[in-house]
Amino acid sequence: MPAGQEARGEELFAREPFKRAVGEALAGRHSGQLLALGERTYQLIANPVRQEDETVGAVLMLLDVTEREERDRLRQEFSANVSHELKTPLTSIVGFAEIMMNGLVKPEDTPRFAGNIYREAQRLISLVGDVMELSQLDEGSLQNRQEPVELYELTRQVAERFRPAAEKRGVTVQLQGEPCTVTGVRAILEEMVRNLCDNAVKYNVEGGRVTLAVSRREKDVLLAVSDTGVGIPYEDQERVFERFFRGDKSHSSQIAGTGLGLSIVKHGALFHNAKLTLQSRPGEGTTVLVAFPLPEPPTKE
Ligand code: ADP
Repeated sequence: MPAGQEARGEELFAREPFKRAVGEALAGRHSGQLLALGERTYQLIANPVRQEDETVGAVLMLLDVTEREERDRLRQEFSANVSHELKTPLTSIVGFAEIMMNGLVKPEDTPRFAGNIYREAQRLISLVGDVMELSQLDEGSLQNRQEPVELYELTRQVAERFRPAAEKRGVTVQLQGEPCTVTGVRAILEEMVRNLCDNAVKYNVEGGRVTLAVSRREKDVLLAVSDTGVGIPYEDQERVFERFFRGDKSHSSQIAGTGLGLSIVKHGALFHNAKLTLQSRPGEGTTVLVAFPLPEPPTKE
């Protein structure tokens, strides 16, 4: 047994829950409990071994449940965040509606109040949409919907959809590249490109540029979404892929968003075994690269 594991074994034998489990099993009772050892979490299951109605020993099973526990913790944290994020716009809607209901709004102010309700309700719709998207990715139920997808064409369609709104804000949208096929789930790929393009337009500046590029390399297909926008502060760059993370600037300048866009991109990349890279310089712009692996060519016998 390697030295590290031996030391861990000794640590385990000395632990109170372990001794208790052995005691219980030898007394003829089943027991199960969670146990933290170092940075890992184990489930300890102890059962008596019986021979002709007599307990003659105990069987102990130690399962490493660290990943399961971590997933549960993240899920709980996510549910708490979702409830909080849903509550904020709902509270505003109720507030505005209540004032209107009580006749406290002058007729000329009604459009402004209705506009606020409309915007908050839109935000709720985006949030619910993003949460549904993420939970589908979490479930992994989409695995069998993989098909060959022409990524350049898909990116072109997304770019066309964004162009009019971007141009209204003085941002040009360019497309570069060549037809490239990847294997994946079209809806997720589209959502990834859409979120990246949305950010590149949203966090851009008057006269700025967004470039969407799809190119084939030796072992992968590279999607690059670049902008000449505000960039991401260095201290935030690690965190932007976290669920509900929103940069300070996005809050203060009232740019609409849920803080889930890049999480969807991250989970979409994980789903497709794609490598995700962020390059950003504050004040200069941001590039997000997603490298989709090409299937390995069949090896010759
Ligand atoms: P949202 O855009 O809804 O806030 P995202 O998950 O898409 O959420 O992005 C998280 C944060 O990362 C944003 O709030 C913003 O601060 C920052 N960010 C994302 N993309 C860009 C970009 N292209 N340029 C500058 N900042 C960005």
